[in-house]
Amino acid sequence: MGQRSGRQERSKKLELALSETMKAETEVQNNKDEAEELKAKDRRLTLVFGVADLKNGAIGLYNVGQSCCLNSLLQVFLMNIHFTGILRRITVPSHARDKSRNVPYQMLLLLEKMQCGKQKAVSPMALAHCLSAYRVKLFVQHDAAQLFLTVWNLIKKQMKRPELVEKLSYLYTIGVQEHLVCQKCSLETRRNSSMLTLPLPVLGSDSYMLKSLEDCLQYFFRPEELTDHNMCFCEQCGMKTPFLQSMKLVHLPQTLTIHLKRFCFEKSAYVHKLSHYLPFPQDLDFSAVLTENQCEADDNEKASWQYELFAVVAHSGSTNFGHYCAYIRSLTERKWYCFNDSEVCKVSWDDVKCTYGHSNLTWGETAYLLTYMKKPPQ
Ligand code: ZN
Repeated sequence: MGQRSGRQERSKKLELALSETMKAETEVQNNKDEAEELKAKDRRLTLVFGVADLKNGAIGLYNVGQSCCLNSLLQVFLMNIHFTGILRRITVPSHARDKSRNVPYQMLLLLEKMQCGKQKAVSPMALAHCLSAYRVKLFVQHDAAQLFLTVWNLIKKQMKRPELVEKLSYLYTIGVQEHLVCQKCSLETRRNSSMLTLPLPVLGSDSYMLKSLEDCLQYFFRPEELTDHNMCFCEQCGMKTPFLQSMKLVHLPQTLTIHLKRFCFEKSAYVHKLSHYLPFPQDLDFSAVLTENQCEADDNEKASWQYELFAVVAHSGSTNFGHYCAYIRSLTERKWYCFNDSEVCKVSWDDVKCTYGHSNLTWGETAYLLTYMKKPPQ
């Protein structure tokens, strides 16, 4: 039962990811003067943003309308120099109304405020207000995994320039292949698809608590038999037959987001949080974690699957009264920071490890989203 709903959710995620595939809008420039003005603005912005992630130290974000979830995600986006490298090349909308409703532009302005100001924190109000036009409400406890998908899709949709849309997709998109094999006639079907996060269950079959991130990955990519009421129709057999379903990893992006599914929707409307201990490493080699059968990639691709942890979005409290903060390792300084709304402080790896969780501390802090960065080739 739990397995089945997990599988359904996985398919839903895939559909979400697929429905937002490359639909780049063509850039329209009204007249030459406007184009020149935009170019000049672009140049000014490049001057401002052609800097490292922590030029003025780490800057916090004020909590506006319970925006701790949004704030944590924004810090993860804006501390990622691969992302800001794309963001600072966007075309600035020409009209005031378009500017106020453009998510990437508002992110860029926020980044400018964070990098130019001398305050310890800045307000994300303009961006939060902009997002509210797209049904991302203020004063609502968001789910960080859902909000990440929403914000990412808005950025992509509103980025306009096709080459930037492509870069953004390439930076974040995970490639997988779904396999279905009829257990009666061995007919095999394959389908390539993409995902923005790896939604990893933290419980195995029979609600067994998985023991590490590596276990969760193994479990996610395990083959699963579809029998009884889960059987599928086989065209070759002309009837419903048992199938073996599996997902194989094809491609991993530079910025890889892992979603630990700690919120459990098992019993109707009641959502509860799974807080048990689940360690994750700072260095992760996917080609060592997954077996040959769980990958559909050549040696070159697999050789690039060396990752180091970049960010942890952690949740504390219950499902109804929670709080988010982000632990991020600066890519330039290589030191860990904790971004807790307007409060930012340097922390150690041991502090980050406190987000591994503990079964007896259900209100305690637990890692919810993990962002890993591909290591540069040796
Ligand atoms: Zn068959």
